Amino acid sequence: MELTICHMYPDLLNLYGDIGNIINLKKRCEWRGIKVNIVNFTVDSDIDLGETDVFFMGGGSDRGQSIVYSDLTQYQKILTNAIEDRAVFLAICGGYQLLGESYIDAVGNRIPGLGVLDYTTESEDGRLIGNVVLKNHLGLKPETLVGFENHGGRTYHDYDTLGTILTGNGNNGKDNLEGMVYKNCIGTYLHGPVLPKNPHLTDHIILTALKQKYDINKLEQIDDKLEYKAHNNVLDRYGIY
Ligand code: GLN
Repeated sequence: MELTICHMYPDLLNLYGDIGNIINLKKRCEWRGIKVNIVNFTVDSDIDLGETDVFFMGGGSDRGQSIVYSDLTQYQKILTNAIEDRAVFLAICGGYQLLGESYIDAVGNRIPGLGVLDYTTESEDGRLIGNVVLKNHLGLKPETLVGFENHGGRTYHDYDTLGTILTGNGNNGKDNLEGMVYKNCIGTYLHGPVLPKNPHLTDHIILTALKQKYDINKLEQIDDKLEYKAHNNVLDRYGIY
């Protein structure tokens, strides 16, 4: 089996170690004998996005986001179709904001989004910074997801969400919800990077992508002790069991 992962704008959207998500996806595939091709896609790349099984877009500074927004609009149709056709997409923070209609940055500039999904994000006073623990809505076991957030933007939407906040702020610091799930597209404010400490989320992404191409129902079990030790350390810190 083989997966092609497109890392979108790794030079402009890579806050708080977001590239660790790519490494984690790659290693957990390779440990199971699944071949992985990583494609780095950035401004002026001439790459056929149609070959992609998993799209990944990290978070960015307001400046990085505005550069990406201007380049990415030309791929609006391709990405909309890919998401509608159930391509797997993981978008973190700035990347998550980018899939919506627009982002009003910290100084009030409106950065248009791809409009692939129907939501807007607006910066408000005070950044939302710190560790986050969620109870996930994907039905994954264990139920918790852990990560780190640092964003000024607040996002409100009517899509399904990735989880309910147990500690931290999430989408907007008000409705106790985090992230967005539409078909096989996940948007989240969780950096960390999020995947290495949440191997159940990584495996969910890998399995969902493999299911699009192969007759497969579950992944081979691999040793997760170290990953869950890191995950559980966060839960211990906040007294969540
Ligand atoms: N610049 C955006 C914000 O502050 C996204 C930040 C991020 O990706 N961490 O809301």
